[in-house]
Amino acid sequence: MAYNDDKINMVHGAGGEVMQDMIGDIILGNLSKTSVNGGIGLEALDDGATIPLDDDHVVVTTVDSHTVQPLFFPGGDIGRISAAGTLNDVSVMGVKPVALTNAMVISEGFPRSDLDTIMKSMNEACEEVDAAIISGDTKVIDQDKLDGIIISTSGIGIGKKEDIVTDAGLEVGDKVIITGSVGDHGMAIMSKREGFGYDTELKSDVAPVWSMVEAAKKVGTLTAMKDPTRGGIANALNEMANKSGVGMLLDEEKIPIKDAVNAVSEMLGIDPFEVANEGKVIMGVKADTAEDVLDAIQKTKYGKDAQIIGEVTEGKHVIMETVIGGERLIEPPMADPVPRVC
Ligand code: MG
Repeated sequence: MAYNDDKINMVHGAGGEVMQDMIGDIILGNLSKTSVNGGIGLEALDDGATIPLDDDHVVVTTVDSHTVQPLFFPGGDIGRISAAGTLNDVSVMGVKPVALTNAMVISEGFPRSDLDTIMKSMNEACEEVDAAIISGDTKVIDQDKLDGIIISTSGIGIGKKEDIVTDAGLEVGDKVIITGSVGDHGMAIMSKREGFGYDTELKSDVAPVWSMVEAAKKVGTLTAMKDPTRGGIANALNEMANKSGVGMLLDEEKIPIKDAVNAVSEMLGIDPFEVANEGKVIMGVKADTAEDVLDAIQKTKYGKDAQIIGEVTEGKHVIMETVIGGERLIEPPMADPVPRVC
């Protein structure tokens, strides 16, 4: 297949197994130091890294480049996703994001008014979690070298050691919670790209997730967290199960999917489980606290559709009991079927 030759292809950036292989071989394979003070480092391939400062306190950091096309899409734009996406990777490590840095590569001729809109969107997302943009960089390059703008943001959070929740701590018997409907962002991007001739009410879910994480942590015991971005919930669930050495049994009926997402999904033949979400969290939660966590999340601004979608099992596979009574193996996609989704 095309991705087996010696060039980097689109599929290498698409958040699936092919990307994981490249990261392992070429990126991790060439680095000699990938963690500090015994913290969580690059090799964990978690949503963020930690640097322990002393016995109690840690800094969480993460970085993300945003190349989404189109730059403006139903429900958001590259500014909102550049802020929310990175704030969310800090949030799902279990600590409150406090700051972002922001590097923008802009193509010559880019409209000033669009940049103004993008900055307002970034600011709005930061305001939602009271995070600051504390440093940045801007570069402009030739028009024919870039279509529009690429934005790289890094995120910083500060917390206590016991706040940290990795994506690898699931234990048999834990309940699995998703904080809302699945596939909204990927399908909203696709509907815009394909230029459907009718108005779909489908919107991206792009939003900061910290309020949901904070609410969940107050009442429950969280064993693992991840935001199901590229590769969708199929990728995130498998990564969490795989890293934790467990399986999952999910109930299809409990997995929230909007009708509009199902409609676009059927029209394009794209699995909503395999496309990106930009305002959702998957959590592993101790069973005796799961109902309290669910209640708390459902009371937040973005969490009203949250559900307990299944539980952690022995074994290795993520299996879903389907509505019609069968079983379906949920596998990690080779790549997200929607390129340049974030
Ligand atoms: Mg993430």
